[in-house]
Parts: sequence; C-alpha cells; structure tokens
Amino acid sequence: MHQRNNNFIDFELVRREASIEQVLELVGYKPLTVSGPQWRGPCPIHKSSSPRSRSFSVNLERNAFQCFGCSAKGNQLDLAAALFGLSVYEAAIELCRQLGLEPPTK
Ligand SMILES: [Zn+2]
Repeated sequence: MHQRNNNFIDFELVRREASIEQVLELVGYKPLTVSGPQWRGPCPIHKSSSPRSRSFSVNLERNAFQCFGCSAKGNQLDLAAALFGLSVYEAAIELCRQLGLEPPTK
C-alpha cells in the first residue's frame, strides 16, 4: 500500500491554517520590496541569479504568488510543493509537520 490516506487531506483547511507568509518564513525568504500585502524579490523557485531581481511577486492577502521569470504561480501549497520539491499532497503534510499542525483530514 503506497497510497495511504492520499485523498483525505483537506487542502482547503491546510490553506486556511498555513499562510503563504508562513511558507516563505519556513524557507527564510526575505523580500526585496514590500508594498502593503505585496512582496517582490528574487525567485526562490528558479533561484534568480541576481539578488536584486524582483521577478517573484507574492500577495500575502490572497495567499498567491507569481514569478515573471519562470512563470510559476499558485497558492501557498503550490509554493510549498515547489520549494520542498514534493507533490502538493506531500507538501501539505510536510507543511503541517513543520508548523506543528495536525494534517487536517476530510
Ligand atoms: Zn521563478
């Protein structure tokens, strides 16, 4: 049995409990510019070659990110998956583990 409980993680609940800001905090991300809820800076996914790059854009209110360099975009679980190098499902569990949360199941 490889697929233990795979379809029972409540992604919506994970997204409610873990913000995109917490995901970025876990990997020690520091934005170059902050304008209200909008962060800009080097992309932690494709690892912008310049530390002054502003290709990566995050909206903390919408828990959404977008990179104009590598075209990655999505919500905090998509970001966690990209940063941890895991599937969204595995990233949701890993995120809960790192934040000390019980992975919510349906
Ligand atoms: Zn990128």
